[in-house]
Amino acid sequence: MTELIIFGPPGSGKGTYSKELERLIGIKRISTGDIFRKEIEKNTKLGQAIKKYVESGALVPDDIVIKVVEKELKRIRKKNFILDGFPRTIEQAKALDKIVKIKGIILLRMDERILIKKLAGRRVCINCGKPYNVVSIDEVVGKVHYVLPAIKPKKRGICDVCGSKLIQRKDDKPSVIKKRLEVYKKQSRPVLRYYRKKGVTFINVTVNRDIETVTKRILSLLKRRMKIKV
Ligand code: AMP
Repeated sequence: MTELIIFGPPGSGKGTYSKELERLIGIKRISTGDIFRKEIEKNTKLGQAIKKYVESGALVPDDIVIKVVEKELKRIRKKNFILDGFPRTIEQAKALDKIVKIKGIILLRMDERILIKKLAGRRVCINCGKPYNVVSIDEVVGKVHYVLPAIKPKKRGICDVCGSKLIQRKDDKPSVIKKRLEVYKKQSRPVLRYYRKKGVTFINVTVNRDIETVTKRILSLLKRRMKIKV
């Protein structure tokens, strides 16, 4: 069984790399952010209850998030999975402990200055959710050289896959980005200490290159450190 969490600040690429792992090693991806955005779009009761949190960059209350994840885990029953965006608080981590034992955490690292630039350049397809980025980064921060090429659609503002419009997520606006980074530092980063104390395997990856290169790094570490077949 492979029970993984992908963790990192907003904009570090949790969605991108968990989707790559889903595609390449066949584990099921569970993204609370995606679930919430769909509920908001469909204007369901849950969507209405959580809209203000998601769009302002605050965390959705623990009891709501925990119920959603419990339901998802029950639905996929015992399949190998990767959690993207959950747990984001100690309370959520404790609730998760009661359901499953997490084997490993992929921790994505990226400097804050780079994160802000990257998030501001992010665009997503309104229909299929495919992410793009209009900003290209080539910058050295400390000892790390970040070379993150833009991911532009062939036709400006239009998704290559389904032809729908590209938009900026409401929570990718500069004021909300700042709030999300603060929330990450205050409420989510302590979750790492919680898992370190438990002795869970950490796969630390600096996201300073293109998607293909970073995916290869993650796969090779999963193979070496966790004996996962890749
Ligand atoms: P993400 O796509 O993972 O960045 O999530 C987008 C937004 O959904 C977050 O900024 C929160 O408002 C909400 N959200 C997603 N996952 C959680 C979680 N585990 N706990 C609380 N709020 C969450």
